[in-house]
Amino acid sequence: CGIVGYIGNNDSKEILLKGLEKLEYRGYDSAGIAVVNDNGVQVFKEKGRIADLRSIVDLDVLANTGIGHTRWATHGVPSHENAHPHQSNSGRYTLVHNGVIENYDHLKREYLQEIALKSDTDTEIIVQLIELFSKDLSTEEAFRETLKVLKGSYAIALLDKADNGTIYVAKNKSPLLVGLGDAFNVVASDAMAMIQVTDQYVELVDKEMVMVTKDEVIIKNLDGDIIERAPYTAELDA
Ligand code: GLU
Repeated sequence: CGIVGYIGNNDSKEILLKGLEKLEYRGYDSAGIAVVNDNGVQVFKEKGRIADLRSIVDLDVLANTGIGHTRWATHGVPSHENAHPHQSNSGRYTLVHNGVIENYDHLKREYLQEIALKSDTDTEIIVQLIELFSKDLSTEEAFRETLKVLKGSYAIALLDKADNGTIYVAKNKSPLLVGLGDAFNVVASDAMAMIQVTDQYVELVDKEMVMVTKDEVIIKNLDGDIIERAPYTAELDA
């Protein structure tokens, strides 16, 4: 399973699909991408292979920002509904996740009794919580508050329809890196996925949150303090 993301001046779809193909070796049962532009968010996802996903992606939708996912099901059977990306009920937030949210049932009962869930995944809880918390908070704050209540493992990439210039990411006990480009940045579970576009990576530490724009990578701890971290050069054969 794996995660990719792209934000820059080019169309994101092919970069995301190629990145997911590079992560196929990790194993998966479903795949999906979400892209966002001024017209909104489009999600393409399916049970099966990346080749099946390719065949349903609408090539006419151009978008400079996107996230992609391969799923290895842990909660909920492999299916279209359970494939990622998952969206909050208003459609504002779109999220991909690798890992297992151990307290998802508790979180569901504690916060989401009123929310009609659309999948059987632990993952959907995360995106619905972000939307719930965003009623009183900015996206950045709502994401941090959500991360504070999650228990378990995760690599997460999140899109906000209201701001198509940012990808929000976080990790805990699951791998995730940010790759730095010239007027673009990428997100990947493994540098292998994006080594064709950059060899400069920033390591993420558990329980931080990161805001990735095409020109900037802002890392904060869960209290909202900025953390500085220098990139390193990944040495892999492209
Ligand atoms: N637990 C999530 C699910 O079952 C994510 C699985 C994964 O890591 O791909 O949908």
